[in-house]
Amino acid sequence: MHVECPNCRTVYEVPAIHFADGARRLRCTECGYRWNQTASDAELNEGKKSTPLLDMLEPAMNMEASAAINVDIAGDDGDDDGDDDGLGGLTSSSGTVASAALDQQAADDAYADIDSALAPMPAPTIEQNLAAMGRRWQWGLSLVLATVLLSLLILGRQSVASAAPFTQSLYRGLGLEPWSALRRWDLCLETRNGSELRYSLRNTSTFSRSMPDLYATDASGALALIDGPTGSLRAGEVVTGVAAVDGLNLDQPQSLALATKTDPSNARVYGSC
Ligand SMILES: [Zn+2]
Repeated sequence: MHVECPNCRTVYEVPAIHFADGARRLRCTECGYRWNQTASDAELNEGKKSTPLLDMLEPAMNMEASAAINVDIAGDDGDDDGDDDGLGGLTSSSGTVASAALDQQAADDAYADIDSALAPMPAPTIEQNLAAMGRRWQWGLSLVLATVLLSLLILGRQSVASAAPFTQSLYRGLGLEPWSALRRWDLCLETRNGSELRYSLRNTSTFSRSMPDLYATDASGALALIDGPTGSLRAGEVVTGVAAVDGLNLDQPQSLALATKTDPSNARVYGSC
């Protein structure tokens, strides 16, 4: 039978007959460690190298009995003296056997843990399902949401710009003004006084807008930029201004135009008031 020292793992070959009557106290010759060995928990690993024999085979002893009796012999210094009369082992053993009382609280805690681990999982709520789906399809959903949001901001930019005027400059910068640059303006030529054209411009949209460029059509049909109003016009606001047309050979009858570039096909032309 193979016996392994619990301390240094040295393996000994011991005839099983020595354990026929129960536990036996052993001492390791390598490290001096002492322990109680029974045949049932002997290490039966045949692959390990073995040393010939244990140094000592103390008499069999009853662990429970020694713990119960708790013998204490005055003057005995325990196992450290290496005696082999059995009394030392008995005495020392009585002092080191640990109580194995059940801790009720620890047992309750353990059972509670097991109960909670075995408890049926609550069915996931709709929110949890959505969250899980959102994690799985995070990319796709994000893309869809971003597209929808962008579409709303573009298609509904008239409402957005109306509700939040500070977004107008942003839209304008992106070339996504919620209004056509040329629509919703009411422009007319009031009078011509010498080298000056007097005009009236009204913002008929529901937005505050920056002033458009004003053009006059010259005799060749081309557009000539004239001094238009500056700043912005609130919704429904009217501005009356005077533009100098010195040096311009204006078309007759005279007209004014709004355009985004000096291209007559791009212009909206307005006549007299
Ligand atoms: Zn040992």
